[in-house]
Amino acid sequence: MAVYAAPGQPDSLVTYQSRYEHYIGGEWVAPVKGQYFENVTPITGKVFCEVARGTAEDIDAALDAAHAAAPAWGRTTPAERAVILNTIADRMEANLEMLAVAETWDNGKAVRETLNADIPLAIDHFRYFAGAIRAQEGGLSQITEDMVAYHFHEPLGVVGQIIPWNFPILMATWKLAPALAAGNAIVLKPAEQTPASILVLFQLIGDLLPAGVVNIVNGFGAEAGKPLATSPRIRKIAFTGETTTGRLIMQYASENIIPVTLELGGKSPNVFFEDVMAENDAYFDKAQEGFTMFALNQGEVCTCPSRALLQASIADDFLDAVVERTERITRGNPLDTDTMIGAQASNDQFEKIKSYLDIGRQEGAQLLTGGEPDDRGGEFSDGFYIRPTIFRGDNSMRIFQEEIFGPVVSVTTFSDFDDAIRIANDSLYGLGAGVWSRSGNVAYRAGRAIQAGRVWVNNYHAYPAHAAFGGYKSSGIGRENHLMMLDHYQQTKNLLVSYKETAD
Ligand code: NAD
Repeated sequence: MAVYAAPGQPDSLVTYQSRYEHYIGGEWVAPVKGQYFENVTPITGKVFCEVARGTAEDIDAALDAAHAAAPAWGRTTPAERAVILNTIADRMEANLEMLAVAETWDNGKAVRETLNADIPLAIDHFRYFAGAIRAQEGGLSQITEDMVAYHFHEPLGVVGQIIPWNFPILMATWKLAPALAAGNAIVLKPAEQTPASILVLFQLIGDLLPAGVVNIVNGFGAEAGKPLATSPRIRKIAFTGETTTGRLIMQYASENIIPVTLELGGKSPNVFFEDVMAENDAYFDKAQEGFTMFALNQGEVCTCPSRALLQASIADDFLDAVVERTERITRGNPLDTDTMIGAQASNDQFEKIKSYLDIGRQEGAQLLTGGEPDDRGGEFSDGFYIRPTIFRGDNSMRIFQEEIFGPVVSVTTFSDFDDAIRIANDSLYGLGAGVWSRSGNVAYRAGRAIQAGRVWVNNYHAYPAHAAFGGYKSSGIGRENHLMMLDHYQQTKNLLVSYKETAD
C-alpha cells in the first residue's frame, strides 16, 4: 500500500504549473486571443491550473508549424522514427509514477489504474508501433515481363487528432504512436476536461521529436476542435468521443474529402451463461470479477460492460454473489494504491450519471446496490464520486440503451443462447462485449454472433497492443491498437515502371 502526495503538497512527484500554454512548433505558446480556462481536479473539485483556450487562430499557427515540419519528418526512415518512439517509451517508463499521479490528479481515476494500466499501456503502445513500422513491407507486382508495379507506403502529411477525457494520456498515445510511426506531423486537441496531464507528458518528451512534428492546441470542441476538423489543411482526422460528435466530424471531413477514423460510444453486453456457476471455484471467481468490471475506471470506458445479461436459471444466485462483491470495491483517496474506484472526470459527468440514477428508478428498474453519490468526506467532499450501482430491469429501458458512462450496470436475463444474442445485439452500438462460459463451443459461437468489434471471451477490459480495437454499427470506423492502423495514416504510391528499352 502507498499513498501518493497530491500535487501542490511538498513531497508530490508532480509539480503542476498554475498556467499552461499551447505546445506549437516545439515551444510553449500563449493563445492568440489571450484567454485561458480553469482546469479542475475531480478528486477535490478544486481548480488546480488554467490552460490556454484555443481558437481558430491557434489552430492555424499549429498547422503552420506542422506543415513546416512534415516534409523532413516524412523523409526520415522507419528505423529513425522507431528509435525516437522507443526513446519516448523509455523516458515515460523512467517517469511512470510521476505520469500516473499527474493523470490521476487531472482525470480523477484511481492511481492503481494509472500505475498498472494507463501509463504502462501507453509506453507499450509506442514500443509496439516502433516495431510495427520496422516490420512493414511494401508490395511489388510483376505486370508483364518488363513492367513492374511498386507499392510504397507514404505518410499523409499533416493530420488532426481529437481525443476525449476518460484516458487522456492513453487516448493521446493510441493516436500519436501510429501517426508518428507512419511519418505524419500532427495537431492534437485534448479534451477540455483533462488537458493538463498531456501537457506534462509533452514537457517530458517534447524534446525527443523535431519541432512541429506534434503540436497541441487546448480548448473546447466548438472553438478549437471544429476549426481543426474542418480545416482544408489536414489530410486526415482521427476522433474519439461521443457518437453525436463523430457524426459531425464525418460531415466536416466530407467537405474536404479526407479520411476519418472514429472511436465512438458503446453499451456493451456482458453475457454470462449458466455454466459459470460453481461453489468455490476459481473460474466462477473470475466471472464475478468480470461482472464487477462495470465499475473499472468509474465506468468511464467506451467499452464499459454496462449491460449484464444473465441466464435466467442462475440470475438470482449470481446476483447475490456480485452485489456482495461490488459492495467490497474499495473507495477512498484515489491517490491511495488500495483505492479501486476514483472520481468521475468532471462535474458535468457527475450530474449526468446522477440523472440516469433517477431515470433508472423512474423507469421501474430494481436498484440492487448503490444508486447515489459517494461522499468520501474531508478534502474529498467536493469531489465527484458515485457509488457502484446495479439495476435490474429490461433491455428496452433507457438505462440499457443510452450510454451513462458511469459505474452503473443494468442487468437483465435471457432464456437460451438465441435469446442472449438477440438481447446483446438489440443496441445501436457495437463496440465491446463479453462472453462467459466454460464451454468453448458456446463461447465461440456467442463471440462470433455478437455484433461488436471486440468480444472478450472469459475475460474483460484487457487492451493489449496487437489486438485490433474498434466499433461495429454506430460505435465507429477503423481499428486502433493494431498495425492495421498504419493503413489509416498512410497512402499508397504506385510506381508503374517499364524496363523495356523499345516502343513495341
Ligand atoms: P465529446 O464528443 O463531447 O468530446 C470529445 C472531443 O471532441 C473533445 O476533445 C471535445 O472538445 C471535442 N469536440 C466536441 N465537439 C466538437 C466539434 N463540434 N468539433 C470538433 N471537436 C469537438 O465526447 P466526450 O464526452 O468528451 O467523451 C466521451 C465519449 O467518448 C463517450 O461517448 C465514449 O464512449 C467515447 N469514447 C470512445 C472510445 C472508443 O475508443 N470508442 C474511447 C473513449 C471514449
